[in-house]
Amino acid sequence: MDYEISGNGEGSLKELVYEPAERLKTLFEKWNARFVAFLEVAELEMIDIHDSDADIHLVKNQIRDFYRKGFELGLHLHPQWYGGRYENGKWLLDYSEYNLCTLPRTRIDQIAERSISYFREILGVEDFTPFSFRAGNWLFKPTQPAAGVLVERGIKVDSSVFKGGLRHQHRLDYRRALKSGNFWAFSDHVDVPDPDGSLLEIPIHTQMVPFWKMIKPKRINAQHIGMGGGQSWRDKLPRLLDFLRFWHPLKLDFCCMTIKELTDMVDAAIKKDQQNPTSFWPVVAIGHTKELVDFETVDAFLSYLKDNGIAITTLEVAGKKARQP
Ligand SMILES: [Zn+2]
Repeated sequence: MDYEISGNGEGSLKELVYEPAERLKTLFEKWNARFVAFLEVAELEMIDIHDSDADIHLVKNQIRDFYRKGFELGLHLHPQWYGGRYENGKWLLDYSEYNLCTLPRTRIDQIAERSISYFREILGVEDFTPFSFRAGNWLFKPTQPAAGVLVERGIKVDSSVFKGGLRHQHRLDYRRALKSGNFWAFSDHVDVPDPDGSLLEIPIHTQMVPFWKMIKPKRINAQHIGMGGGQSWRDKLPRLLDFLRFWHPLKLDFCCMTIKELTDMVDAAIKKDQQNPTSFWPVVAIGHTKELVDFETVDAFLSYLKDNGIAITTLEVAGKKARQP
């Protein structure tokens, strides 16, 4: 789960982050399961420094609570926050730093260092190192030098790729990953396996579906497909181009899908797995605190997974298992 106020910084931490995450935690504890909270530490630190949301202390306490209870804390970054300014009650983010991967190596390293330091400060654990990483807006392209920096900082697993993904505006193209297996080590390209790579990719699970299946009432809200207000047609055009193809990758998203869609997608994965049942297949589901409103569906999904003998685990556990010979 991405743990953040996504978008332009508008909205309250309590409503969009703390409360949904708290309810999800309770639900997972009921099923004796743990999730990965991908903390967007850049925004949390900036909100903290500028005192722009009085509930930052709730969030920091919650993060410490997750850590104590064995939830995994992953690193998620929207670097546009670091150059942001807080003026007249509004955040003006620095969109020249939107994609971490296109920045110079020294800047990427500064950002990685700063974000992990703040992580350590929140937890009060001097040597804490997040095991897993998810890039802001899934942008892990170009993969180098960012991947090299993350390896040096101790990151072991990335989960930014969604197979079949395409975003014209940011030159994101994960279509090659459709051939890349359940998980893979990589070095120069996040979507291409390299057995000698130091980072492991455990991609977000997708299924290629015809375009009309993307237009479902639960899914089609402006925020989710990134066509939110305030944008001109010139800004929207690249996103519209992304939609001009027949097959689309539908992410396994526990916030945006109905229970039937979730279980259908996992049923399809079970069927596929039966062709090669001894292979390890960590299936990553995704969600955003901001979009988490339907807890009944999450509860029913966790129940379905238990009934079908599918273990629920974190990326840290799955990543260590995947690396075993
Ligand atoms: Zn994010």
